[in-house]
Amino acid sequence: MFLRSAVLSAVVVCGLPGLAMRADAGLKVVASTEDLASLTREVGGDRITVDAIAKGYQDPHFVEAKPSFILKLHAADLLIVVGREMEVGWLPPLLQQSRNAKIQPGSPGHLDASSNVRILDIPQGQITRAMGDVHPFGNPHYWLDPGNGRRVAQAIQAKLSELQPADAGFFAQRFNDFDKRLGEAEKRWDAALAPYKGTKIVTYHRSWANFVDRFGLDVMGYVEPRPGIPPSPQHTIALIAEMKKVKATTILVEPYFDLKTPQSVARETGGTVVVLSPSVGGEKDITDYISLFDHDVKLLVAALKAAGH
Ligand SMILES: [Zn+2]
Repeated sequence: MFLRSAVLSAVVVCGLPGLAMRADAGLKVVASTEDLASLTREVGGDRITVDAIAKGYQDPHFVEAKPSFILKLHAADLLIVVGREMEVGWLPPLLQQSRNAKIQPGSPGHLDASSNVRILDIPQGQITRAMGDVHPFGNPHYWLDPGNGRRVAQAIQAKLSELQPADAGFFAQRFNDFDKRLGEAEKRWDAALAPYKGTKIVTYHRSWANFVDRFGLDVMGYVEPRPGIPPSPQHTIALIAEMKKVKATTILVEPYFDLKTPQSVARETGGTVVVLSPSVGGEKDITDYISLFDHDVKLLVAALKAAGH
């Protein structure tokens, strides 16, 4: 392995010095999540470098700060964030400690990926603490609608072209190629989920609002009594009763939540727990944005089919 990569880099350095230099000279992008990093890679290809902070198997609301994150942010030319307060609990102090004026909010090197997408669950009226960890600017899990993924990729294309104009044509061509592949994949996902339109499901957290909206499923309840609040016995009993009433049996759980309550709900209702990854990198075979949906749609369809819907 070592030998092979040493040979490969020697070839790159000696054989194609222009290309090697170009990659070194490209924009250094840091994305707050692996989903945004994947969309950036789709558009930027080898003309930029991309690093993600939160891993796909972590809860993106809670990321433990590491000194290496500060170093990455210090060296970055562009920071891309989910926004809508997704990173409010961990990114602001890292950004401050990065001492990098280029990537602070409001600077050209700071891209909030949520500014041009379809946002759901924007709360009406006053928000109180009793409502739990409600996001005042709407549901930040918007990347789980492929239409929003396309819009984010487009915003990334515009931003990369602004910061590295010599490669604008290359970025445009990469975006068009991604757009085409995503469109073909959407047909596949739509066809797979079409038989289950209107099926009532339960999710642990409100991670799947955009996903179910896009594919026509119906979330009838949550394992969490309120966003960010752990399950309580009273809420779980009410959820079980409601699930029996409407015959909901599929419970989607993100990989970073405790399975104990979802499993006991499943036992009481004759249902199934499906661990579904909301992010790129959440499982080994989820290597990019399109394979994220391939993975999730396949698991979900298998569960819904087994439940006899
Ligand atoms: Zn959330």
